[in-house]
Amino acid sequence: MAQIRIQNVRKEFGAFTAVESSSFTVEDGEFFMLLGPSGCGKTTTLRMMAGLELPTSGEIFIDGEEVGMKPASQRDIAFVFQMFALYPHMNVRKNISYPLLSQGMPRAEVKARVEDVARILKIETILDRPVGGLSGGDRQRVALGRAIVRRPKAFFMDEPLGALDAEFREHMAEELRALHDRIGATTVYVTHDQLEAMQMGDKIVVMNHGVVEQFGKPQEIYDWPATKFVAKFIGSPAMNFFDFDGMIDAGGTVVELSGKKVDVPSSRQGAKGKLTIGVRPEHIRFSDSSEYRGRVLATEYLGTTQIITLATPNGEVKARASSRQAVRSGEVIGLEFDPATLTIFEGVKGQALL
Ligand code: ATP
Repeated sequence: MAQIRIQNVRKEFGAFTAVESSSFTVEDGEFFMLLGPSGCGKTTTLRMMAGLELPTSGEIFIDGEEVGMKPASQRDIAFVFQMFALYPHMNVRKNISYPLLSQGMPRAEVKARVEDVARILKIETILDRPVGGLSGGDRQRVALGRAIVRRPKAFFMDEPLGALDAEFREHMAEELRALHDRIGATTVYVTHDQLEAMQMGDKIVVMNHGVVEQFGKPQEIYDWPATKFVAKFIGSPAMNFFDFDGMIDAGGTVVELSGKKVDVPSSRQGAKGKLTIGVRPEHIRFSDSSEYRGRVLATEYLGTTQIITLATPNGEVKARASSRQAVRSGEVIGLEFDPATLTIFEGVKGQALL
């Protein structure tokens, strides 16, 4: 088990900066997600944490020891690549034993450890089967077994479920999380899938163009996005944005949107210039008395809820409502926004005004 701390870590490839100076801490036993779009620098960050890439500057601590310049082999960690990387000519037991035997561990101890891991992963009955004929799920469990058998301080996983189809992916995500809860080892996990990050992570770092945009618990990131980028990247359908030019004063000009005055928290008052209001689809309410109106363009049925797309004076807006709410295409509906749920971003860097 390990705490991993990144302090002003930066990575350049020639003239290109892949990771800007970044700092965050992975606490002991956390399931920690590095999330962001393709090319944002999450794999490079993971590789530096694991010792597969050296930082250009900054420090990396594992349990307080500075390891930034140490190779992966000296960090007592395990790296799980796409999980199908097994030795096809060996059986399950040999695949899992291999990392221990190659360290010179006595055979009796190896046997006990492998059986222990097989119990955790529920693969006791297939230990003597060749890996070639196994189902995808069993192969994945064997690959995990090979990583956990060494009892490393931490696990590093780079899109381990990336190659799987949607249904199996969800199942393996649940298994991985359950496995983590059983063995409690610090895990750092790269994904570009915001839903996967929200479902599995204790904490999430959201990256964009080599910059850490936010670092926090899934709910904090969802409810209190630090930047417009994070607000847009997390949540499906995405947050609605309304750009306006104005000033937030004590009276709250903000929400001419719903035709009402809004109490803006004092910390936000005084902000002026180009601002953006963010509203999550589930925070839009329908109200006959509201002067702010939208025309229904489309509805998407999702079981208990539906997504309603509306044309408003500020462009297209998506609202999430109960499926029991009857709406017709073309209908004009009054919309209301609860001020407590709005996020306001300044216009230049898109920082949230909290
Ligand atoms: P993806 O999900 O596509 O892998 P990522 O967020 O993991 O994206 P990285 O793989 O960390 O992104 O790459 C970040 C940037 O650094 C990319 O623009 C990539 O082209 C660049 N990069 C990564 N490794 C190298 C390298 N060895 N040499 C030069 N550029 C690199």
